[in-house]
Amino acid sequence: MLRFVSEQAQQPAKRPAGMRTHDHGEIHHGFVAKDAAAQAARCAQCGVPFCQVHCPLSNNIPDWLKLTADGRLREAYDLAESTNNMPEICGRICPQDRLCEANCVIEQSTHGAVTIGSIEKYLADTAFQNGWVRPIRPRVARAESIGIVGAGPAGLTAAEQLRKQGYGVTIYDRHDRAGGLLIYGIPNFKLDKAVVQRRVARQEAGGIQFRLGVEIGCDLSLRELRAHHDAVLLATGAYRARETGAKGASLPGVVAALDYLIASNRKGLGDVVPSHDDGSLHAKGKDVVVIGGGDTAMDCVRTAVRQGANSVTCLYRRDRANMPGSAREVLHAEEEGVRFEWLAAPDAFDGVEAVARVHGARMRLGVVDASGRHGIEKDGSSFEIAAQMVIVAAGFDPEPLPQMLSEKALMTGSDGRVRIDQRNFMTSLEGVFAAGDIVRGASLVVWAIRDGRDAAAAIHAHLLARQEVVHAAE
Ligand SMILES: Cc1cc2nc3c(=O)[nH]c(=O)nc-3n(C[C@H](O)[C@H](O)[C@H](O)COP(=O)(O)OP(=O)(O)OC[C@H]3O[C@@H](n4cnc5c(N)ncnc54)[C@H](O)[C@@H]3O)c2cc1C
Ligand code: SF4
Repeated sequence: MLRFVSEQAQQPAKRPAGMRTHDHGEIHHGFVAKDAAAQAARCAQCGVPFCQVHCPLSNNIPDWLKLTADGRLREAYDLAESTNNMPEICGRICPQDRLCEANCVIEQSTHGAVTIGSIEKYLADTAFQNGWVRPIRPRVARAESIGIVGAGPAGLTAAEQLRKQGYGVTIYDRHDRAGGLLIYGIPNFKLDKAVVQRRVARQEAGGIQFRLGVEIGCDLSLRELRAHHDAVLLATGAYRARETGAKGASLPGVVAALDYLIASNRKGLGDVVPSHDDGSLHAKGKDVVVIGGGDTAMDCVRTAVRQGANSVTCLYRRDRANMPGSAREVLHAEEEGVRFEWLAAPDAFDGVEAVARVHGARMRLGVVDASGRHGIEKDGSSFEIAAQMVIVAAGFDPEPLPQMLSEKALMTGSDGRVRIDQRNFMTSLEGVFAAGDIVRGASLVVWAIRDGRDAAAAIHAHLLARQEVVHAAE
């Protein structure tokens, strides 16, 4: 039985009166069969499944909602799982308000979308509880093996799909636990770590090998991996933190978002984390300013609330309508007491021995550029906020993989994203494929799953074609 200490359990934080929290990541939730059936029955079965079209996995949502409404939960789960390797995870953390639920016709008619995500989560959790989640049992054993670099959702999904085809699969990850950002990025209150580890345990039981604490490019080279395996998949994510350009970023107390979240997640997993315990990566009693407007920034502000921060302010350089993060997350953060400063960017962080305040500039939106986003410019006014902790969550780019892997022939774009042939997911190196954030740039879990599935299918096709060539030559 897996046990985890949640950040909340460690810190029953004193929160300002009226603050409430939205924690929906845990395994045992309040949603029961009759709620699921009632929600599912609201589906109009409209015949134009915009929800399905806007789900990156093309989940057959109307059909599994109908089965749920009819009480046929096991069949509903089987259908949900047939297109999604992690339905319980997507149900918890997909930004449904931008994807499936945003496009529900009932939402369009202003009656509130069918809560597709919570039904998906309910179906999968119920399937685990009732033993309906089938083990991974390949019908054939193939001689070829595949090495996967990165145990995030893209790598894990590809591993499962390839293992089901009978390949030997080994996943390498530099972290000591599998899951990628599902384990060390996304906080427990959104996604309980036991939910992730349950999937990983099923993969281990299905014969997928995990080599954790192994960094490719350091402990093992890509060349060695290519010599050892018949194909390699790079699913290494995007970890190069963007900088704000503000002065004073090296002051103690100015911390990187991922360092902060990793410390909190490790603590929740029961690890000894000195930087968390000595307060350097802990928000208790501090005025916290978070810079950024994406999912990472929302996770930081909401973690700081749970740690008992004195105040939490989020600075975002554009306005509310142009935030990259989920609008629902922003609403949750506001209800939890987070203050948002829209059209605000940091100019400098200052303090004597550690950060004490943020000097900010007010911004205004400029014209829409070629990417479809508003440009921004300073409007000439400024402001100041007291802060004993500043968390920089300005976004991530891929790390420079050709240098890290000492493989100059691996082609990347100017932003570091690995280039693939879109038809077959292969990189510029023969037999080396890539998927997930390392190809897309920082994106979403559901897209990493989609890429993992597509890349696995492409690797399978590649290996079958190679076999045919070998047979033809014999
Ligand atoms: C704080 C945060 C919150 C987020 N919240 C959400 C959310 O609510 N909903 C959502 O849909 N998405 C969210 N995302 C985005 C989502 O987590 C990512 O898009 C997704 O995890 C990408 O999957 P991936 O498999 O490509 O990479 P990752 O999950 O990043 O996994 C990559 C793995 O590769 C390993 N690795 C890297 N280099 C090497 C190497 N050289 N050798 C060995 N191993 C290596 C890493 O250790 C890591 O485990 C969030 C991201 C962050 C940072
Ligand atoms: S995977 Fe995400 S987008 Fe697709 S149905 Fe589930 S919650 Fe909606």
